[in-house]
Amino acid sequence: MNILEHRALRGPNYYSRYQAIFLRLDIGELEQRPSDTAPDIVQRISELIPTLQEHRCSVGRPGGFLERLARGTWAGHIVEHVAIELQNLIGFSVGYGKTIDAYDSGIYNVIYRYRDEACGLAAGVEAVDFVERLFSGDAIDMPAIITRLKNVRDDNMLGPSTAAIVEAAGNRGIPSTRLSEDSSYVQLGQGHRQQRIQATVTWRTNLIGAGIADDKNWTKQILDDAGIPVPQGRVCESYSEALDIARDIGYPVVTKPLIGNHGRGISTDIDDDQALREAFDIAANRYPSVIVEKYVKGEDHRLLVINGQLVAAARRRPAHVIGDGESSIQALVDVENGDPRRGVGHENLLTQIQIDEQSLRLLDQQNLTLQSVIAKDEIVYLKSTANLSTGGTATDVTDDVHPEVKYAAERIARLIGLDIIGIDLLSETLTRPLEDQSAAVVEVNAGPGFRMHLSPTHGLGRNVGRPVVDMLFPDSDDNGRVPIAAVTGTNGKTTTVRLLAHLLRHARRSVGMACTGTIEINNHVIMRGDYSGPQAAAIVLREPTVEYAVLEVARGGIMRRGLGFDECDVGVLLNIASDHLGEHDIHTLEELARCKSVVIDAVRQGGTAVLNADDPRVLDSRQWARGNIVFFTLDPDSPTIREHVNEHGVAFTVHNERIVMRQGKVEAEVVPVFEVPLTFEGHARFNVANALAASAAAYALGLSIADIQRGLQTFHPTPGQNPGRTNFIEAAGMKVLIDYGHNVAALEALGELVSCIPAHRRLCVAGAPGNRRDEDLVALGAQLARMHDSLFIFDSDPRGRAPGETSALIRSGADSIEDNCQVEVFMEERQAVAKAFDQASEGDLLVLLIDDTESAIERLRGRRFAPDASGDP
Ligand code: ATP
Ligand code: ATP
Ligand code: MG
Ligand code: MG
Repeated sequence: MNILEHRALRGPNYYSRYQAIFLRLDIGELEQRPSDTAPDIVQRISELIPTLQEHRCSVGRPGGFLERLARGTWAGHIVEHVAIELQNLIGFSVGYGKTIDAYDSGIYNVIYRYRDEACGLAAGVEAVDFVERLFSGDAIDMPAIITRLKNVRDDNMLGPSTAAIVEAAGNRGIPSTRLSEDSSYVQLGQGHRQQRIQATVTWRTNLIGAGIADDKNWTKQILDDAGIPVPQGRVCESYSEALDIARDIGYPVVTKPLIGNHGRGISTDIDDDQALREAFDIAANRYPSVIVEKYVKGEDHRLLVINGQLVAAARRRPAHVIGDGESSIQALVDVENGDPRRGVGHENLLTQIQIDEQSLRLLDQQNLTLQSVIAKDEIVYLKSTANLSTGGTATDVTDDVHPEVKYAAERIARLIGLDIIGIDLLSETLTRPLEDQSAAVVEVNAGPGFRMHLSPTHGLGRNVGRPVVDMLFPDSDDNGRVPIAAVTGTNGKTTTVRLLAHLLRHARRSVGMACTGTIEINNHVIMRGDYSGPQAAAIVLREPTVEYAVLEVARGGIMRRGLGFDECDVGVLLNIASDHLGEHDIHTLEELARCKSVVIDAVRQGGTAVLNADDPRVLDSRQWARGNIVFFTLDPDSPTIREHVNEHGVAFTVHNERIVMRQGKVEAEVVPVFEVPLTFEGHARFNVANALAASAAAYALGLSIADIQRGLQTFHPTPGQNPGRTNFIEAAGMKVLIDYGHNVAALEALGELVSCIPAHRRLCVAGAPGNRRDEDLVALGAQLARMHDSLFIFDSDPRGRAPGETSALIRSGADSIEDNCQVEVFMEERQAVAKAFDQASEGDLLVLLIDDTESAIERLRGRRFAPDASGDP
């Protein structure tokens, strides 16, 4: 088998409403070998992956897939089920998949859901190899496959603290986006509603507070000044100074680097000068300034305060083993490390116990070695500090905190100034006020780990992600989302997106807009290029000022990556016409309609689908709409609209040359058509349709009729406001129309306008990229010839065709029309434009369907201001 394409569809897509992996597979000679031709396959696969028994497949009951296997199915379909089950086996619960014959024999499009992209892709590769071996009879090493996939998972997974916050956000419907592959920097929400976190540090975490927490001495000073008990001590830079401090405060003492974490470089319970010398060196090795402070007797507690509230408390014990009277310490450690909860570093809930210098020294102090056998229930500590990251354990004691201790913890959070803070408190217990016992705060932590609270070794786990999310999004109805309007269709997307963005901006909304031209944040162009895919959506939704996102959605993006959002508030479907058929396995208009209706399918419940009632294929897509429907139509008498309006649905249409909104018995005038510059006094009917669509979308987004009216009146088809689309310029008695139509439907629409413009002769410069089918290029040529007296065809981007081939096809279409249209062909756009300008004279209309509109506009300027207007441009 051969993997032809393999990628993640990251949002709603052609195959599924959810994220899915797309795997295009050439099964080669296995096309001749369905599973019933290899009788041992069912038995072998059920032995290797017993849980496949649960797959229902199309049969609809457990065992269904195995039945299909026995009856005979193809390798692609088996790959799908194996890829799904492999993900389940490494802990990602997924179920959905489907396998579709592609148009070519032996080629299959395998679709299956994923939770983690890297794991989803890796599962597909493993599944293909697995199925190949299944058919060839080669050995399959399941444990090795699982280990490889788990490694991918662990390399890629968010840490437990970040994951807890992301999950809590998800439970409130707040979307999250990882902003870099290899870190825990995550965006929660969208646009101006967003918040960002990096693990347990948030956008609000105070830098001064974090600086204080980083410096243990500064922390102690602030707490001491506030009357909170801290261990007495000082900072020093040499052993002799350390000795002075120890003499001052008296043994036992603790030494630690002034700046450090994870208990590194810390020695506790130091009793004499000799031990102090060693301990000082260990600390000084980590950081030149060393704290020497009083050793505080007591249990190690961690208090977690979020947004001023104590949300969890844990008691921590250093890594230790408990004797059974038989086993050696080493054997007991091995048993502990066998606990599946213990991983390496922070990857798991607990961490493995590593026997190091410190452990051996501790054992030695107790006259023990790793070979010693200890009495039953005797506890032997292997580390001097209780950090989880060095193998310690934690017990949840949240319910045992005395109100005075709680008050003290919350007060500390305020004094240090941190929104999320972990307080390390040594005390005998948390059930009594601090002043009644031996107790001291040894340090505070910014960005504290949540592991010990989420899944303590003993006691109840606490959902501490939730208070973080509630702090960042205090309004419980706030799901952090901004309204998204997504516009799709074959023609008019860019125009409609620009107009809708204009309507919103004109009504003083802050808009992020992406289309096949630019990305704009309000009136600022931030990027230029084709931005009609999911990447553009992500860029807009990352912008912290965006209140509304208006996005052009083209088929390429839908097919390659899926939508760049999980749901939208308004989905606009303008029209479905033949364009780009034959690409991405979309061969028919029905398939194209299904592709475009992904946007309608993604409209959230309570959102609005804006549909063109004049296009039967668009009308059909209402079956996918879950929210409200607002229709637009050029035909005020359309029966569909009538029925819809009678049932109190909303529609936008044109009545008595006015754009109106109808609902029930109401007809509200929006604006007379001739006051909408984009429509050329109604002659550009396609732009009337686009204006209706944009008005309907704006209305669905909450704009008033008055706002829509003023917006429509102020949007002009000029190079400034709608560059490259129906830009009409008069210069030196010549009329020029710059446009972008490049399929028959667009040209037919444009043809109506062209025929309305009075002109002596109609000349046109046009080309088309070579990635269209032959018949499309021929049809394009024919339509161009129908519209014009003279054609200047150029060879645009060949995209895989031979030079001259594209223009020759267009020409042959033009020549097939008996309209007496003169045709000339050029190798380059520039040459065709120059020749057309040369030929055009006063009273002529020159239609430019070109890429480089800026140079053409420059040329026109030259004409307009030239002293002899009829001269050479
Ligand atoms: P982490 O980053 O995990 O919080 P750290 O390196 O910042 O650790 P501290 O929190 O200051 O270090 O100390 C680590 C542990 O060492 C404490 O939890 C406690 O077990 C022990 N310890 C620190 N200071 C004292 C002290 N004065 N008396 C007794 N034990 C102490
Ligand atoms: P693309 O797929 O190239 O991004 P688009 O859908 O964004 O195109 P526009 O750039 O707005 O569409 O318009 C392209 C051309 O299509 C217009 O200049 C016009 O000739 C034609 N057109 C615009 N709107 C419509 C419409 N509603 N119906 C038919 N044709 C239209
Ligand atoms: Mg600490
Ligand atoms: Mg476009």
